[in-house]
Amino acid sequence: MSQLEIKNLHVAIGEKEIVKGLSLVIGGGEVHAVMGPNGTGKSTLAKAIAGHPDYTITGGDVLLDGHSVLAMEPDERARSGLFLAFQYPSEIPGVSIANFLRAAQQARMAEGEELDASAYYKRLYSKMDLLKIDRKFTSRSVNDGFSGGEKKRCEILQMAMLEPKFALMDETDSGLDIDALRIVAEGVNTLRGPGLGVLLITHYQRLLNYIVPDFVHVMWDGRIVKSGDKDLALELEAKGYDWVKKELVTA
Ligand code: ADP
Ligand code: MG
Repeated sequence: MSQLEIKNLHVAIGEKEIVKGLSLVIGGGEVHAVMGPNGTGKSTLAKAIAGHPDYTITGGDVLLDGHSVLAMEPDERARSGLFLAFQYPSEIPGVSIANFLRAAQQARMAEGEELDASAYYKRLYSKMDLLKIDRKFTSRSVNDGFSGGEKKRCEILQMAMLEPKFALMDETDSGLDIDALRIVAEGVNTLRGPGLGVLLITHYQRLLNYIVPDFVHVMWDGRIVKSGDKDLALELEAKGYDWVKKELVTA
């Protein structure tokens, strides 16, 4: 079974420390939700784990199956099984989804090895069928003029094709109406299983009605300050984040 271990992680942007000693262990197949108010460092956490160059790790470690990923380039991290679904996916006009995914797949293969086109399309279409995505979708340019829901579907399709061990999903629900939210949740639930661990970052409890997490963590000022099961998310929804803050002050 795979494991992603975040160990006393500290992350800075420039001089400013944003993540301040965060620890979390995600077992293979587990879904962990990280909730917290805006500006608390949730996106910073996800981007730092994925290897974004603007985020400096100043302490701690991130271990994938016992091996530190910190010395790896982002593409090596991806090849070893990490996937980041962006809060705000980039638009790539002129590059079709089919070609983009093909290039991503090719990039994961050993040098000199060539991706078999017919096998690739067969796999792509089977994943699209699984996720109930229309075939026409893949001829469109990546995220170009996409609605919020279409962008998120594109992220989920990438995830399905790359088959990561762990997916970091950063506010996959942001900007989505309820129908789009259901589609995204259905996609994640379809891919969910012993081979895929998920770190699901969300500001609102709403998404967790559709993707029921195994664990819920509250992030506050760069740290996890409270952990529990799915009921913790409901408690947060009812009482707001101030309740956690008050508890922290009195603790
Ligand atoms: P969250 O995702 O929880 O809303 P973020 O990780 O996006 O929080 O941001 C945490 C803090 O880091 C905020 O104060 C934000 O302004 C700051 N921050 C995030 N990204 C950058 C950046 N690229 N440059 C400078 N400051 C940033
Ligand atoms: Mg964020």
